[in-house]
Amino acid sequence: MISLSHLYDKFLECTGVSTDTRKISPDCLFVALKGPAFNGNQFAPEALEKGARYAIVDDPAVAETDSRLLLVDDGLTALQALARHHRRTLNIPIVALTGSNGKTTTKELIADVLSKKYKTYATPGNFNNHIGVPLTLLAIDDSYEMAVVEMGANHQREIALLSSIAEPTHGLITNVGKAHLEGFGGIEGVRKGKGELFDWLSQAGGTVFINGSNTTLLAMAQERQFTELVSYLTPDGAYNATLVQDTPVVVFRDADGREITTHLPGRYNFENMAAALCIGQYFGVPPEEANRAIADYNPTNNRSQVVAKGSNTILLDAYNANPSSMAAAVQQFMNLPAQKKVVILGDMFELGPESEAEHAALGELVAKGNFDVVILAGKDMKYALGALPKAYYFPDKFSLHNWLLDHPFENTYFLVKGSRGIGLESVVPFI
Ligand code: ATP
Ligand code: MG
Repeated sequence: MISLSHLYDKFLECTGVSTDTRKISPDCLFVALKGPAFNGNQFAPEALEKGARYAIVDDPAVAETDSRLLLVDDGLTALQALARHHRRTLNIPIVALTGSNGKTTTKELIADVLSKKYKTYATPGNFNNHIGVPLTLLAIDDSYEMAVVEMGANHQREIALLSSIAEPTHGLITNVGKAHLEGFGGIEGVRKGKGELFDWLSQAGGTVFINGSNTTLLAMAQERQFTELVSYLTPDGAYNATLVQDTPVVVFRDADGREITTHLPGRYNFENMAAALCIGQYFGVPPEEANRAIADYNPTNNRSQVVAKGSNTILLDAYNANPSSMAAAVQQFMNLPAQKKVVILGDMFELGPESEAEHAALGELVAKGNFDVVILAGKDMKYALGALPKAYYFPDKFSLHNWLLDHPFENTYFLVKGSRGIGLESVVPFI
């Protein structure tokens, strides 16, 4: 069995870390992980053939076959221990963020703002779990001055674990809402689970950034003692800005009266921007440059995109959905001053026993919007029909595609949103 310090020496000889034999780069370190349907140990020899310098395995029989196979007790634990060890060699601030919604968007906004002044590493894509966070940390080399790490969770103690690996010096919770209710055990469970980041920062003497316009987050902050608490969007806060318009895209005015037009819709994105600008200000990024980063930010991955299609405009938010983000998006769409509005909503996943009630509640909210056409797709969306007798319902997105082909729209605004699993972005070509 190889010791951690020996393992770390081996890691330093490598060019990067991979857990996927389809993504082996020359001289990388392969880590064999196990899942319900696969055992990475089996792929370790192949990883070496493809050019990996070493492979971490936890099957003694496999380890015997080649001296470049490094035997550990457990591959995942070794990966996490390696990441923690590496983080400790990096003498840089790490801003960690978690929350029910808006993590990736806010992470990208923060990274873009900080990059105006510092060489900043940020979680690639959505690599925010017990594997993604260690891989993120291991990719930070000593040329970086700062890092932004997204932490996702769908059950208790996950954020505590990720914090103990990343050892963040600064942190932010975007919001606490109804997401992953199943694994967390209800909204109180979500609050507790996300609060683990605050617990960690409180104990470690870190700095917390707080959205002062969010009463839940304020209450959570008040329950703990922090070495430093920096708030935004509250009159006595460190950073303030005024929302000028929230649809179709956010326009805001900063404290010095500069007006910034962005590419993102919705009050919630304004709050995400304020978080990034507050953090930028805290770290001394010049305000004009920070504003520019926000104005230039363009979302990807079907996340809060505004798509023009002929005479129609589509607010495409098909990257994910849960009761909080659905309500935020629908409410924002209600405020949109447009002649003709159509909502296309897909199932919200991972709600467990609360799914029926949450879909029904969404139906009631949508009913208040007086939208011209309401289209619902997915198995559980049928529960929203109670409040929406006139809605068009499709058990799957394919039947919806066909319907859209037969029903062309013009000069219409669309809101398209649903969970990742339903992939509602596929409707765009049919509109
Ligand atoms: P994941 O859990 O998949 O990592 P995430 O927390 O990273 O999600 P994003 O990918 O940034 O979240 O955004 C997903 C969607 O959440 C957005 O398209 C938007 O609808 C909604 N959203 C973004 N920010 C907020 C916010 N502050 N409050 C509520 N909803 C938000
Ligand atoms: Mg994310």
